[in-house]
Amino acid sequence: MQDKDQDAFEAAVKTMMKSVGEDPDREGLQKTPERVFKAYEFMYGGYKEDPKAILESAIFTSSNDEMVLIKDIEFYSTCEHHLLPIIGRAHVAYIPDGKVVGLSKIPRVVDVFSRRMQIQEQLTEQIADAIMQTIQPKGVAVVIQARHMCMEMRGVEKINSTTTSSALRGLFKKDEKTRAEFFNLINAPAGNRY
Ligand code: ZN
Repeated sequence: MQDKDQDAFEAAVKTMMKSVGEDPDREGLQKTPERVFKAYEFMYGGYKEDPKAILESAIFTSSNDEMVLIKDIEFYSTCEHHLLPIIGRAHVAYIPDGKVVGLSKIPRVVDVFSRRMQIQEQLTEQIADAIMQTIQPKGVAVVIQARHMCMEMRGVEKINSTTTSSALRGLFKKDEKTRAEFFNLINAPAGNRY
């Protein structure tokens, strides 16, 4: 049995279809409201997860105080203004201060914040702040490069334009050399993958 929320959601999808001139009862569209519901459950699954809890579940003591960088984390999000896709890559670095986090947790945090209604600037800051508040490193840097379908599909901007945003905290903000090292690393060609 479907619950009431799902029924209301599917009714709303039918209303949208009618309003653009479609017949929601024609064969090809009959199951579409249900499919859209399932897609939304996945795309917005980030509301059900707590990024800080994910990070806190894998924090370890470490004497390492060199930059940890995870480059090219692919993500899919949607803009909160049009609910159209934002497709991009995040580069996340931090400098430990006695604590490190399990590496796989950082892409997961990117994923959780991406699977909410977003703007790119906010997504960038949320990732940086969640890391700052949980691992309490000497600094965090997050750079996101993304394409916005709400600009491309609606013809607002040139096709294939990329938007870059950054959030720098601690040493990455204060220390020019640290910041330069980070930007050099993320701009370096990918090279061979092991
Ligand atoms: Zn938009």
